[in-house]
Amino acid sequence: MIDINMDEGLIDSEAVMRRFLNLIAAEPDICKVPIMVDSSRWSVIQTALRCIQGKAVVNSISLKEGEAVFREHARELRRFGAAAVVMAFDETGQADTTDRKLAICERAYRILVDEEGWDPSDIIFDPNVLTVATGMEEHNAYGVAFIEATRLIKTRLAGCRVSGGISNVSFSFRGNNRVREAMHAAFLYHARKAGLDMAIVNAGMIEVYEEIDKELLERVEDVLLNRRPDATERLIQFADSIKAEGPGEAQKEAQAWRALPVNKRLEHALIKGIVEFIDEDVEEARRQFDRPLQVIEGPLMDGMNVVGDLFGAGKMFLPQVVKSARVMKKAVAYLLPFMEEEKQRLGAPPAAKGRILMATVKGDVHDIGKNIVGVVLGCNNYEVIDLGVMVPCEELLRVARERAVDIIGLSGLITPSLDEMVHVAREMERQGFTLPLLIGGATTSRLHTAVKIALQYSAPTVHVKDASRVVGVVQALLDPQRRDEYAARVRAEYDALREHHGRGREEKTLIAYADARANAFRSDWDTLDIPTPEFRGLRVLDDYPIDELVRYIDWTPFFHAWEMKGIFPRILDHPERGAEARKLYDDARRLLERIIRERRLRARGVVFFHPANAIGDDVEVYTDERRGGLLATFHFLRQQGERPDGKPNYSLADFIAPRESGRLDYLGGFAVTAGHGVAELVAEFQADHDDYQAIMVKALADRLAEAFAERLHELVRGWWGYGQGENLSQEALIAERYRGIRPAAGYPACPDHTEKRILFDLLGAERNAGIELTENFAMTPGAAVSGLYFAHPAALYFDVGRLGLDQVENYAERKGMELHEVERWLGPNLGYEPA
Ligand code: SAH
Repeated sequence: MIDINMDEGLIDSEAVMRRFLNLIAAEPDICKVPIMVDSSRWSVIQTALRCIQGKAVVNSISLKEGEAVFREHARELRRFGAAAVVMAFDETGQADTTDRKLAICERAYRILVDEEGWDPSDIIFDPNVLTVATGMEEHNAYGVAFIEATRLIKTRLAGCRVSGGISNVSFSFRGNNRVREAMHAAFLYHARKAGLDMAIVNAGMIEVYEEIDKELLERVEDVLLNRRPDATERLIQFADSIKAEGPGEAQKEAQAWRALPVNKRLEHALIKGIVEFIDEDVEEARRQFDRPLQVIEGPLMDGMNVVGDLFGAGKMFLPQVVKSARVMKKAVAYLLPFMEEEKQRLGAPPAAKGRILMATVKGDVHDIGKNIVGVVLGCNNYEVIDLGVMVPCEELLRVARERAVDIIGLSGLITPSLDEMVHVAREMERQGFTLPLLIGGATTSRLHTAVKIALQYSAPTVHVKDASRVVGVVQALLDPQRRDEYAARVRAEYDALREHHGRGREEKTLIAYADARANAFRSDWDTLDIPTPEFRGLRVLDDYPIDELVRYIDWTPFFHAWEMKGIFPRILDHPERGAEARKLYDDARRLLERIIRERRLRARGVVFFHPANAIGDDVEVYTDERRGGLLATFHFLRQQGERPDGKPNYSLADFIAPRESGRLDYLGGFAVTAGHGVAELVAEFQADHDDYQAIMVKALADRLAEAFAERLHELVRGWWGYGQGENLSQEALIAERYRGIRPAAGYPACPDHTEKRILFDLLGAERNAGIELTENFAMTPGAAVSGLYFAHPAALYFDVGRLGLDQVENYAERKGMELHEVERWLGPNLGYEPA
């Protein structure tokens, strides 16, 4: 039976009850279950009864308001054909003794059956389960009173049923579930023997009567059945002892694995990521084997295989795997000197399943995802050579040749890296490589790999979406039996993608750049409120306190970095991932505290405001309010897709007053980083073979940089004058629910990364915040964010989408760059095939 209660002060109980019942009436699995309408308001019960098909049970009616009301309700219920719970209440209150319980139920029974013509089987008496062991002597008999009343009601009032709300009885022991569970089980056991027909009980808080610890049971029954005067005292004492020994028990259990044989201990440590005992266990294993290598190839690899299987089956999550890898690394590190010493005699290197060379391409600093892939491969017994970030093609191919690797993996974060990957593929082809090439990282995609990269290289080229896929791909590519078939399948898939993509492209229509400009977003510049910032020029924020940034952290992307998809904080309560998400979050908070306490990271930022005006789709920035000198010009792109229902073709330039409006506007810009100190901290963790913490540092630094951007934007809105008194919650900030935007070069509204150079020159970002740009305009340190500020009340983020040749030619001219060069930077946005 489903008990439905909508009594809550803040909801419209009648409307909600009606809607809920109507919804479940249409669910075949639910609507065949009887419904108990539970409300203390009669009007809610009436509403509900009108919606329920079949026989309902009403919870509840009683003599509380006297006989007249009771009869009235009884008649109405009878018209509906409903059964009812009848509480043992009367005009003077709730019945608490056996006699009163029986007397009230008997009175109600007489009225209902003899005078109102009820069928006795429509009556369910509830003789009130009340709380025992409260310390008040008069409460000691409550358990017995319920049980005895049940017995008498069932024998004297023919045909009726008895029910009770069980959890009430143990209310004194809130917080001690073991005692409560035992009490519920024992109470149900005795009440059922007395004739109880049904009950409301928390199914998760009930023990099997037979399995209750005998000593506990005795004391529980002493209380419930009121068998001795000191029953409450004794149960409380016992309850305390259970509580006290609780964690001890848990600890004993947690240490029980220490008694297992050594190979099982190693397996356990690997799966649980426990490094505490690894040296002693590895030492013990080493003594059991002839050669140290056998420890790796035997118990350690066995353990890692279990981890690999569990991860593959979705039963372990990435952070756990990385912790397992840490255990493995420490074990191997312990064995290394022994293997070195042995090498003299035997000379055999450990046999990995394959050797994989990984690098982030030239001009890019993408790191975390690649680190994770490396760790996952490492745990699967592949040897990984990681060349790090910003690796030029020549170096990559030289190492590939020298070290005779089996696979090359490239990673990248920013769009210019896509071109670099194409270049590497082309070079591999030219130099006659035949190794499989893997492509991964935020900016990469299966489509781009198919359309642009795979075509350049005749050996297998495969896009790897995330770390959880990499082992499957590598296995297939290195297995002589499966390799050809797998490569052919990927090739066929990419051919199909390419063909489909080609067709899609032809269908997209772009309008002429002139027409797009004619359909720009327009403001009423005569009346628009243009705020004036409180200062002009630069403001440097050096060593901004990290602890003040914590509340601006958007944690959702942090979990994504660890390949745990979900929204924070909901992910912490996810039925499968929640427990691991919590651990990850706790570890992150702990490291964050340490970073703050030991001042390990330094947050640096710089911001400017300058007078500005739009000239076409450019924005000019001036030295002063009289437009005395030109400081810089930013160049923007405009949407050229056909826009539905009168929507404008946006450009960011639309949000700055055009020069011809006669009004002066302002543009802001910023660059922030939390990356100073990251390298040192990472090196420390790596020296300790702790990839888990090393990756954590980088992931946190990224979060802090974004949090700094959010915080600085808040300050900026204050300095600009329009954000004062805005008082937004953390959620509202993270959802960017405020006036103004901070578009970042390389993102959809302004995809050209080269504009960062102009921004950085204005900011003196290298000098003032210690952030450099690589040749492809990636920011380094990697934990950095930069962008422009627009204060226009209607400013929004958009996607410029595909660009026509007419606009790209114009853009090249405005920027003073060669067409083909601009085309290279705008590659993914080109709506045509460049010549
Ligand atoms: N809270 C997030 C913030 C980063 S994503 C985090 O901690 O990771 C949001 C930012 O991306 C915006 O503030 C803006 O700087 C940039 N952005 C988003 N969409 C954009 C677009 N269409 N064009 C330009 N920049 C954009």
